[in-house]
Amino acid sequence: MQRAELQRWLDTTLESTRFSDYCPNGLQVEGRTEINKLVTGVTASQALLDRAVALQADAILVHHGWFWRGEDPTIRGTRKQRIATALASDLNVFAYHLPLDAHPTLGNNAQLAKVLGLQVELDAQANPVTGGAKGLIWFGAPQTPVTLGQFVANTNHALNRPAVFIGDADRPCKRVAWCTGGAQGMFEAAIDAGVDVYITGEISEPNAHLARESGVGFIAAGHHATERYGVKALGEAIAAEFDVEVLFFDIDNPA
Ligand SMILES: [Zn+2]
Repeated sequence: MQRAELQRWLDTTLESTRFSDYCPNGLQVEGRTEINKLVTGVTASQALLDRAVALQADAILVHHGWFWRGEDPTIRGTRKQRIATALASDLNVFAYHLPLDAHPTLGNNAQLAKVLGLQVELDAQANPVTGGAKGLIWFGAPQTPVTLGQFVANTNHALNRPAVFIGDADRPCKRVAWCTGGAQGMFEAAIDAGVDVYITGEISEPNAHLARESGVGFIAAGHHATERYGVKALGEAIAAEFDVEVLFFDIDNPA
């Protein structure tokens, strides 16, 4: 397929113009015009680029791309190496950050709910981007009654990774809030919304106190681990729609 066609489909599907983000969404580095092989992954790291080049892919599609607001804009060190790799191989780099977190079915939050077996609240599902601070918190419930302790054990099993949990393991887990990645700053908004537990990727020092003092559980299940499902689902949707080979690589990251 043509690069421009893929770009149009991605921008339309993910409604990328609706978001004010910390990075450019869409085509970040322009490569060759025709795309037959696409490599997907969470982050446009050197390891993912090298894998794409070795496979003679025409493009990579990631959740964490480049050119973040506030970062040093000079092209040197590892930034130089990454950009040089893409340019030398005429590799397209597509990245979607918040639009991929928020998408109602393919997004990271929607896909995490699927992986964890969470029943998404109907109003949140109808318009998930309006739920909570910055519009990215999702709400739902486990399909069977569990305690927070059991819920954490199920989460660890589903993500194949031990989460950091602060809270009362015996508290019933009736209502859950979540936002994938580095959304620990939204914990207070989740508490205000009235939930038993909040799941995100990472933990910061104040979160532990907030959990202990509010009684609301806090789960840090991994930034990478909570965000590997959106881009995978997006790649599968592309493969179903177009005549393109799509390969997803889960390059492990303990963070
Ligand atoms: Zn992230």
